[in-house]
Amino acid sequence: MTVTALGLPTVSRVTSPAPAAGPLVDTFGRIATDLRVSLTDRCNLRCTYCMPAEGLDWLPGEELLSPAELIRLLRIAVTRLGITNVRFTGGEPLVVKHLEEVVAATAALRPRPEIALTTNGLGLARRAQALVDAGLNRVNVSLDTVDAARFAAITRRDRLDDVIDGLAAAQRAGLGPIKVNAVLDPATGREDVVDLLTFCLEHGYQLRVIEQMPLDAEHHWRRDQVLTADDILSTLRGHFTLTPDTAPRGSAPAQLWRVNGGDATVGVIASVTKAFCAACDRTRLTADGQVRNCLFATSETDLRALLRRGADDAEIEASWRQTMWQKAAGHGINDPDFVQPNRPMSAIGG
Ligand code: SAM
Ligand code: SF4
Repeated sequence: MTVTALGLPTVSRVTSPAPAAGPLVDTFGRIATDLRVSLTDRCNLRCTYCMPAEGLDWLPGEELLSPAELIRLLRIAVTRLGITNVRFTGGEPLVVKHLEEVVAATAALRPRPEIALTTNGLGLARRAQALVDAGLNRVNVSLDTVDAARFAAITRRDRLDDVIDGLAAAQRAGLGPIKVNAVLDPATGREDVVDLLTFCLEHGYQLRVIEQMPLDAEHHWRRDQVLTADDILSTLRGHFTLTPDTAPRGSAPAQLWRVNGGDATVGVIASVTKAFCAACDRTRLTADGQVRNCLFATSETDLRALLRRGADDAEIEASWRQTMWQKAAGHGINDPDFVQPNRPMSAIGG
């Protein structure tokens, strides 16, 4: 048996059936316990690395899962497939009116999963307490700069203050420790990241910097423009003392560093330059009911069609298991024949 660059054994591509029960496993032995649910492909920002200025052709309403359909799939995931962590994302999940209803229904499942949200923070100030009351446990807020003019340039909207208010409200509602996700701009990111870490240290937020990936709708991503984990760390080391955090990393994608000898940490997610696919524990559901076994999958499975033609839970479970069974060893971004998936990040759910 050969071994891939990711250290995973290669097996001949999958024709065998997935195991009918037990954990949600793939042919490389990875077990998915973390479900990412995209609630919508719509968004109220237009981050340059994600969406074009004019937005995208949004999914038609009848193609979206209804709250009842989504809640049924969540029940199957938790009670039949062993999902222990559910993260709601998008598009922007806070533009979805039934978010609290879906969070509450997820919190009522047994065994109760951990429930997290990834959001751009707009409107979080108003809804943080209701989300906690519904059962939300954790939040990641995306923020790429604390400079108002650069925020407006990156997101094409002048809304920095709303994000900062949203972070504070989430902290007050008990969602701490709050993670701040940053994707750095190739031109200004080296300055932005220093100010971002200073801001996060002042407020007790945990900064996580993510290498930009080829998932932008316009296919403008260029590998030689990515600010790499090494670039980011060497910039930060010019301003802070970083020491490796020795806590076990498990399947967490971020490599953590302790800042200035204290308890605060900064994480760097080297999705492109040091892929963590070998430890991946994720499965993904899109707002239109497609299961994906990877952010970069070029195929997906239509669970919405199964739901709408009256399939029973066992049939949906088997289809989800077969999709995950076929998960590839890695995302292949660095392969010469890499093909960017047709769906942009905003329609998959990051
Ligand atoms: N709208 C919400 C937000 O921004 O947090 C949730 C959806 S967004 C697609 C989820 C995460 O993906 C955000 O942290 C965003 O910065 C990140 N993201 C979007 N496009 C990306 C890209 N091309 N490469 C890396 N991360 C990206
Ligand atoms: Fe919207 Fe999030 Fe994409 Fe920015 S990264 S455009 S906030 S979906």
